[in-house]
Amino acid sequence: MIDSYKHKGLRKKLVDEIRKKGIKDDRILSAIEKIPRHFFMDSSFESFAYQDKPFPIGAGQTISQPYTVAFQTELLEIEPKDKVLEIGTGSGYQACILLEMGARVYTIERHRTLYNKTKKLLEKIKYAPKMFYGDGSKGLPADAPFDKILVTAAAPEIPQELFKQMRVGGIMVVPIGTNDTQIMKQIHKKDHDDFTEKSCGYFRFVPLLSNKT
Ligand code: SAH
Repeated sequence: MIDSYKHKGLRKKLVDEIRKKGIKDDRILSAIEKIPRHFFMDSSFESFAYQDKPFPIGAGQTISQPYTVAFQTELLEIEPKDKVLEIGTGSGYQACILLEMGARVYTIERHRTLYNKTKKLLEKIKYAPKMFYGDGSKGLPADAPFDKILVTAAAPEIPQELFKQMRVGGIMVVPIGTNDTQIMKQIHKKDHDDFTEKSCGYFRFVPLLSNKT
């Protein structure tokens, strides 16, 4: 896999574009500048890797739009060493952004083929989140509590199991809704059964599916 000067130049432009759209956290912008997004996409889409758009990654799934990745990451208010649970590993790109920011990342994917493909890729490019195959809506009870939880698929409501597995003081970012578009929610856990939520605009995600297909 080659990361050429051309790729690096295109990444700089992408970062400028995302900054203009309102992302302020320099740690996120430098992670986007550093990570070759084209490594995470099928070679037939490689030339599109530095457009601010989502793209198919196989198994009917998509790699999120870079702006959306940056936006969700910003809402997580990542601190170095944060223990983060991501639901929906997909291409692995978002997990790598979190690793670059110094987080400890646990990520779950329910598509076996995608899980296998991404595991191989991340080993090859030397990123090492803890990867799990299974239904992410159940979380990882054995590894809980998490400081932050990021859901990268659309959930019909706040996933209760995940809320339980977050420490008091933690933040969950989750797109909520059953229609074509969802509302991005930032949930602050105030106590075991208490939280505040902020709505942060409309986005479009593939659904969080509980049953394996
Ligand atoms: N974060 C990804 C984008 C994910 S797209 C990236 O950076 O590329 C959403 C992903 O969530 C898809 O790969 C889909 O298979 C997965 N998914 C959907 N429901 C899930 C569930 N219940 N548990 C785990 N993963 C799920």
